[in-house]
Amino acid sequence: MYRILICEDEASIRTFLKINFERNGFLVYETDTGEEAVRIASLEKPDVAILDVMLPGIDGFEALRQIREAFPRMGIIMLTARAQDTDKILGLKEGADDYLIKPFNPTELILRTQALLRRLNEKTEDTTRAVVKTFCFELDNYSQTITKADHPIVLTPKEFLLMKIFMENPGKAFTRDDLLNLVWGYDFTGDPKIVDVNVRRLRSKIEDVSSDPKYIETIWGTGYRWKKE
Ligand code: CA
Repeated sequence: MYRILICEDEASIRTFLKINFERNGFLVYETDTGEEAVRIASLEKPDVAILDVMLPGIDGFEALRQIREAFPRMGIIMLTARAQDTDKILGLKEGADDYLIKPFNPTELILRTQALLRRLNEKTEDTTRAVVKTFCFELDNYSQTITKADHPIVLTPKEFLLMKIFMENPGKAFTRDDLLNLVWGYDFTGDPKIVDVNVRRLRSKIEDVSSDPKYIETIWGTGYRWKKE
C-alpha cells in the first residue's frame, strides 16, 4: 500500500483529495501547514508528498526545499494556482517531480501520482517493502504470508490486509473508520463492528495472550495502533 502526504490548507480540497486517494488504495496523511508537512515527511517517510504552494507559515516551495534536502528520492508533486508567478512555476520542475495547476481534476492528480510511483520504482527497484519485519513478525508481500518467530500464521485475506496496514505503519493510530475504508472499502454498507470482530480474531491468532494484547494496541473510543518497536 502506497502512502501519501497531502499538504493543503483549504480543508474542502484536502478532504476531497484524501477521499479520492483512499478510494484508490492509498494510505493518506494530511496536514494544513508546511511545517507539519516537513515533520510528517521525516517521521513517516511517505512515498509521495503533495504540497500546495500557497500555505500559511512556510510556503510549499520552502517545504519542498526542506523535504527534498532530507529525502532526495521522495516523490513530490506541487499544487499551484494559475495566477502564481510563471518563473516560480517553472522552477518547480527542478525540485519537484511534477506539478498541477489549480483547478484540476482529482483523477488527473491520482494518475500523475501513480505514474510518478512507477518512475520511482523503476529507479530504485524497491525491494525494501517486500518484507516487513517488526518484533518477531515477518510479513512477505510477495507470498502474502506472515510468520511469528518463524512459524506461519494462517490469516483470512481481510486479516492479512489488517496486519499489513498495522505492520507497515507502526505507531500510527487508525480510527475504526480508517480501517473500515482501507480494508472493506467505501462502499461497505454492513456493520462497522466488523472492524472490532476482525481485530479480535486477529489478536487471537497473533498475540501471545489475546486478552492482554501487546502488539495491536486499543485506543479507547477511537481505534487501534500497532505498537512501535
Ligand atoms: Ca493554499
